[in-house]
Amino acid sequence: MNNPTIDRNQIESMVRAAIRGASGATGQCTGAAVADQPPGWVDGKPNLRVSISARHCHLTDEHVETLFGPGSVLEPEKDLYQDGFYAAKQTVMVVGPRRRMLPNVRVLGPTRGASQVELAFTDSISLGIDAPVRHSGKIDGTPGCVLVGPAGTVQLDQGVIRAARHVHMNFADAEHFGVQNGDMMNLIVRSPDCGVVFEDVLVRADEAAKLEVHIDTDEGNACHLDAATEIKLVRQGGGACGCGG
Ligand SMILES: [Zn+2]
Repeated sequence: MNNPTIDRNQIESMVRAAIRGASGATGQCTGAAVADQPPGWVDGKPNLRVSISARHCHLTDEHVETLFGPGSVLEPEKDLYQDGFYAAKQTVMVVGPRRRMLPNVRVLGPTRGASQVELAFTDSISLGIDAPVRHSGKIDGTPGCVLVGPAGTVQLDQGVIRAARHVHMNFADAEHFGVQNGDMMNLIVRSPDCGVVFEDVLVRADEAAKLEVHIDTDEGNACHLDAATEIKLVRQGGGACGCGG
């Protein structure tokens, strides 16, 4: 009764209430797939899309079972623009120090080799976790948290990050822009009274990806993405390349 850290019963009843009321909507989809052009291209050209990734987490198979019960698997609710990826029906509560928490954090599938929580800066402030900017999967030395699901809890020793901005693209897109996997680009968003140039957009190229920039909710709000009149992706050029040989 006098648990000084986390009152599991209290949290679990909170999360049960939260999950009952979950609706969940992430991503968007238009999907104009035409044969014999690269994935995501429209009328023979790359078709740039900028999407805001709201806070979410990725889970291992083992953690899915711990959080949602033995034998549980992620249930796809909504396909993301990138083929094969989806927002699951399931959500978790993310608990930080001093019992601060974020309810209804969407789980994205498929499962992965390591669980990871991706937050915007304002999310990390409300949780009280100093999450570093990292590229997905690079979680060594990052802070942890507690995840609470309807069937159990998981203590993550690491894995809470602010996902670094990046752009997914296939090799035809990469060739079009003159970039390679691992290069950095700039994203220009023109928006009434609050345009932003985002630097350090990492290129993540692979065969099947569709051209899509992922930024977080803080970044999307900063440039008022919904009201943008122009979006443009350009190679980071001129000056020192900084490639380190
Ligand atoms: Zn992404």
